[in-house]
Amino acid sequence: MSTSDQDKAESVSPLMVQDAVGNARGVLPSAPTGVPDVAALAQMANEFFRALPGQAGQFTGAQSAATVPSAAPQFGATPSSMFAAPSADRLPSEADVHRLSGGSASSYQSEVAAAPAAMNVSPYSGTEVPQRAAQNTPIGNADSPFAPPMPSFDASFPLFGAEFPAIPRMAALPTEDDVRAALNSVSSLYFLEDAGALSKPATARTAPPIAARISPSVLQDLQLPRKQFDVNSVRRDFPILQEQVNGKPLIWLDNAATTQKPQSVIDRISYFYEHENSNIHRAAHELAAKATDAYENAREKVARFLNASSVNEIVFVRGATEAINLVAKSWGRRHIGKDDEIVISWIEHHANIVPWQMLAAETGARLRVAPVDDDGQILLDEFEKLLSPRTRLVSVTQVSNALGTITPTRQIVQMAHRYGARVLVDGAQSVSHMSTDVQALDCDFFVFSGHKVFGPTGIGVLYGKPDALADSPPWQGGGNMIVDVTFEKTIYHAAPARFEAGTGNIADAVGLGAAIDYVEQLGMENIARHEHDLLIYATKLLQTIPGLRLIGTAKEKASVLSFVLEGFRTEEVGAALNREGIAVRSGHHCAQPALRRFGVETSVRPSLALYNHYEDVDALIAVLRKLKNTAA
Ligand code: PLP
Repeated sequence: MSTSDQDKAESVSPLMVQDAVGNARGVLPSAPTGVPDVAALAQMANEFFRALPGQAGQFTGAQSAATVPSAAPQFGATPSSMFAAPSADRLPSEADVHRLSGGSASSYQSEVAAAPAAMNVSPYSGTEVPQRAAQNTPIGNADSPFAPPMPSFDASFPLFGAEFPAIPRMAALPTEDDVRAALNSVSSLYFLEDAGALSKPATARTAPPIAARISPSVLQDLQLPRKQFDVNSVRRDFPILQEQVNGKPLIWLDNAATTQKPQSVIDRISYFYEHENSNIHRAAHELAAKATDAYENAREKVARFLNASSVNEIVFVRGATEAINLVAKSWGRRHIGKDDEIVISWIEHHANIVPWQMLAAETGARLRVAPVDDDGQILLDEFEKLLSPRTRLVSVTQVSNALGTITPTRQIVQMAHRYGARVLVDGAQSVSHMSTDVQALDCDFFVFSGHKVFGPTGIGVLYGKPDALADSPPWQGGGNMIVDVTFEKTIYHAAPARFEAGTGNIADAVGLGAAIDYVEQLGMENIARHEHDLLIYATKLLQTIPGLRLIGTAKEKASVLSFVLEGFRTEEVGAALNREGIAVRSGHHCAQPALRRFGVETSVRPSLALYNHYEDVDALIAVLRKLKNTAA
């Protein structure tokens, strides 16, 4: 551990509160264990908030935003109309999901319209651009429905509780700076990996590894604020962003196709091959045990990431495509027959069209397609009209890869279940942009690919409800998926092993686990907020380019900015951007029906991820402007 890490670990106690010129205003006695006295912090914060004009009562996480003091220093202003702070035990609802990207109270479109009129001069294009949102969104910003619970200052921290001495009264009312300092000091606990260690005397604590971070689940228990999301430090985690392309720094705006990998994922895969490589589940030697542990540990991470109720609901596959094919060929063949119906939407990726067409051709079932409006939003009334007792399966994307539309998945699941249909949700484009909760969604199947969420290619996940998986026969036979084989008969494992025939992609499953760790440490709510601000900024700027038509203008959107530019073929635009080191997709994005719905065969598709910053958008806009100007 470096000295500075040691410092961070030890700086939590005792807590000295100083005023702006450095005079001690009060010393909060350190707890016997050498950690800051949370009860005293609570007292201080509450006294501060009570002293604010018009404020009364305790500041706790369980309160609604309307009662959170508007001047609460760490948490930013709180539009009371938008947000009810989720308590630790409340999962984000569909309404929350909608609010994330706008929703009815403040839609994506209206946010674009209301984006600041004030203009700055872009360092890239030299032209005027709308003012950006704050680069570093304060964590705990109540605007986000996925904001972690507000830290509760009611002194009932489970970890500390009764061990602490009585709360001393502060000598003087704390200032805003005092509270800020105190809260920051609490945040520094974040650097301690082993929360259990906090209750030990400082000298007996185990040293946290360099840059160790507290695990997200423990963080949630502690109800501590997460670190600020700092896009510049995030960018340093991705070595490929240092690459030069055509003599220019790489700007990666092709995230809907695949995401780049943080160093921690690259290192984890290397570590596996350097120290743990073995086949799994089969041998009684040390490396087999290590590799099996690493693989199964990754499955646990995926289960937690999706909020599945058990690791047995998580099947490793090659990717979203394979997962959908698995469901079609296994569950589908058993449950879908002649004249049965499969309902999808108009904006599906080919991976969520073709396997169902194949199944329909094989069984005599029918494929029905729910239409979308001119913004690319599924018409729920029309969708419902397609449902009937003949509907066996509904399969919809959560985010459209061609348009960026966030679909009302929870409502779709509820409607489909009323007709007794199973529902598959394609999360290939959603998992890297929003929290996933398969239990809250209540979907029967959920699929995603590791490479779209900063993990490796060649690994993906099928989640299935236990009864849906139990009702699905194996789709491939071989080793690993059997309990016993004789020439007369084979007994299969239960899920997930029954669907994992042969040697799987062990190292990349482990890498996916590391990718999940990475996004969880950043906090999905912080990622979503950052991307949302960036999406609005980029949309606003794209709309200023003459002859540019956005394809996909849904109220709820994530990441994707699809467009066509009058006078240019989409490949010309892609090539012009590539010359400046900017990677975007131009083509049909494996979603031809979706694009044809808007009268185009191809589009240019920049797509954002957590490491993109405003400069990336500025550079994109500069090239598009130049292209237009040279053509004029
Ligand atoms: N579904 C959607 C919405 C996608 O965007 C993609 C890939 O772009 C897929 C499915 C297929 O993913 P993969 O090619 O990783 O299997």
